[in-house]
Amino acid sequence: MSVSASLERRRRNGATREDTNPYQIALQQLAIAAERLGLDPGLHEVLKHPKRELTVNFPVKMDNGSTRVFTGYRVQHNLSRGPAKGGIRYSPNTDLDEVRALAMWMTWKSAIVDLPFGGAKGGVVVDPRALSLAELERMTRRYTTEISLLIGPDTDIPAPDVATNPQVMAWIMDTYSMHRGHTYPAVVTGKPIAIGGSEGRQDATGRGVVIIAREAAREMGISLPKATVAVQGFGNVGAVAARIFHEAGAKVVAVCDSIGGLYNPNGLDIPALLKCSHRDGTLATHPGGEPISSSELLELDVDILVPAATENQITGENADRIAAKLVIEGANGPTTPLADRILYERGVFLVPDVLANAGGVIVSYFEWVQDLQSYFWAESEVNSRMEQMLLRAYKNVRATASRENVDMRTAAYLVGVKRVAEATLLRGIYP
Ligand code: NAD
Repeated sequence: MSVSASLERRRRNGATREDTNPYQIALQQLAIAAERLGLDPGLHEVLKHPKRELTVNFPVKMDNGSTRVFTGYRVQHNLSRGPAKGGIRYSPNTDLDEVRALAMWMTWKSAIVDLPFGGAKGGVVVDPRALSLAELERMTRRYTTEISLLIGPDTDIPAPDVATNPQVMAWIMDTYSMHRGHTYPAVVTGKPIAIGGSEGRQDATGRGVVIIAREAAREMGISLPKATVAVQGFGNVGAVAARIFHEAGAKVVAVCDSIGGLYNPNGLDIPALLKCSHRDGTLATHPGGEPISSSELLELDVDILVPAATENQITGENADRIAAKLVIEGANGPTTPLADRILYERGVFLVPDVLANAGGVIVSYFEWVQDLQSYFWAESEVNSRMEQMLLRAYKNVRATASRENVDMRTAAYLVGVKRVAEATLLRGIYP
């Protein structure tokens, strides 16, 4: 029975509930690759577990004199190929399982684009919009102090993720440096340029998404300047991708953030929306299109759909209504394994997060290298080296997908898991 037919039957039986726990999803994805690779069961067991998990509960003095206790995490998944690398998110909905999944995805992502890094992720359970700037700074500095057990330029290098930005990275770098008495720019990436950030880092993830979309579209006979695009999420990744799609001549017909979205079949004025979002904290107040919800946006009949917000957006429930020809995952984990199978069966070409949004970690790697050498590159050099690395990885994954007759996520995992497994095996089990 086809996936769609079996889904229809499950739906009629009222049994469409999927497990949307990100860590369980990450384990399912790993299991698919492990089986295809014929991975030794012991090695599979090693790769299933994060190497280290740190939970910290820490007090912060609030502006009104009260004390609030926050919970944060830093998880390192696998360090076989080098120091841990991965962002920090501030979100009221984050938890240990989400951070575990994100750390594991970072391990595969770094390996797929062949960086000498392992995977990590961090998070604090907080709605940063509810804090003043001073509270945000104190919370960031105390969280940094708490996770200083793990982070460091040779050990574990954080970066921006949901609701964190270059200013937050600057506080992390300063706090770590204060503890040691001298400046350590390489402890974190995504910093402002003035304190050792890299040219091109701010745009890197979104730029990479557009590069991958261009490659995938070309294969489908779609030229980017003629393509229609919908982008879910208008932050570090989504807003930059929308801008670069727009600059490349593509028609961005819909964008949204967590407050609302806009649709205009003739194409949206992305520079105006960027200004509006900057001014009002949302794009939804702009008059340039009809309102559209986040879930409606996902089902638009466009050439390219970029989910760039959060996990579990394309699921067994809506996968058969996704009308886009191409799905380029800007976010981490936006598609569930059941949705993956449905999209693949329906011929929707999906480029997975671990490849599509890897432009960010590539330029983070460049920033780390530049900081360690105290020698900085021009933006054109950063961008062209990033494009080369990303395209090399894309071609490798694409060739693997054709050779093995599998979807692009499975192919990407075959490449990434194999590299990590090889490094883990070569290093052996200590003692
Ligand atoms: P961000 O906080 O800068 O932006 C997130 C955007 O998504 C915001 O516009 C927010 O309003 C919107 N959003 C949240 N929930 C939504 C919903 N349900 N519907 C519509 N919009 C919603 O975060 P970001 O750094 O752009 O990260 C977005 C995704 O990309 C995350 O999955 C993150 O892990 C991933 N990612 C980020 C980077 C990076 O360099 N920042 C790199 C790789 C992957």
